[in-house]
Amino acid sequence: TAAARGAVVLTRVRALALTGTGARVRDELTGEEGEIRARAVINASGVWADGLVDGIRIRPSRGTHLVLRPDCLGPLPAGLHIPIPGESNRFVLVLPQDDGRVYVGLTDEPVQGAVPDVAEAPETDIGFLLDVLGSVVDVPVRRDDVVGAFAGLRPLLDTTAGTGASARTADISRRHAVLTSSEGVVTVVGGKLTTYRRMAEDAVDTAVRVRGLAAGP
Ligand SMILES: Cc1cc2nc3c(=O)[nH]c(=O)nc-3n(C[C@H](O)[C@H](O)[C@H](O)COP(=O)(O)OP(=O)(O)OC[C@H]3O[C@@H](n4cnc5c(N)ncnc54)[C@H](O)[C@@H]3O)c2cc1C
Repeated sequence: TAAARGAVVLTRVRALALTGTGARVRDELTGEEGEIRARAVINASGVWADGLVDGIRIRPSRGTHLVLRPDCLGPLPAGLHIPIPGESNRFVLVLPQDDGRVYVGLTDEPVQGAVPDVAEAPETDIGFLLDVLGSVVDVPVRRDDVVGAFAGLRPLLDTTAGTGASARTADISRRHAVLTSSEGVVTVVGGKLTTYRRMAEDAVDTAVRVRGLAAGP
């Protein structure tokens, strides 16, 4: 949509540093670096957002899904919601696929340290999901029934620092936030895929206001 409306879209280009009026960037294929000047800069880099501006802290939360081989649970005409033992409002979903494989997920685990480019599913997540599944199904599902696993990192905004509030990522809000740095960079972070339209609207409205841009319908 943006390209159809005249935007220039650069892929394989990494933002190295941002200011309110531009970015230092590097072409990851050629290694060439350069500057882009802009009237407004919006940082929408997800779980990596706090590496580009000061003053915000992301608490990445890993969500892992398993892929089970077809038929290991027998015929499954519908999905399952399995309450996680000991939790009041968390569930593991069991989602049968058209080809017979079954997805089971997902976890909500804090990730410490540097944010990886590609999240990986550790054995602890795989064991946790198999244990929750095993708490309700009669058929034993074993490690070798797991033919794959994949993970993503939720970009949760840490609003708990210094408040003494829960350190669990499961308790952090999934709502999005729009924050403006002292340099004038507008960051939009958190939120959900299903709220992308509202996130975009809030970020653009903020950029228009903060940068004094002319904008119309
Ligand atoms: C485990 C998990 C569960 C989820 N569950 C739900 C759900 O139930 N419902 C729902 O609606 N949504 C869900 N989501 C979606 C999620 O919560 C986010 O809202 C969404 O993925 C974040 O979108 P985003 O555009 O902010 O970030 P992203 O989609 O991560 O996009 C950020 C982009 O910025 C790029 N980037 C990063 N750093 C740089 C840089 N320096 N230079 C250039 N580019 C850069 C990245 O390559 C990436 O393309 C889930 C996500 C995960 C991981």
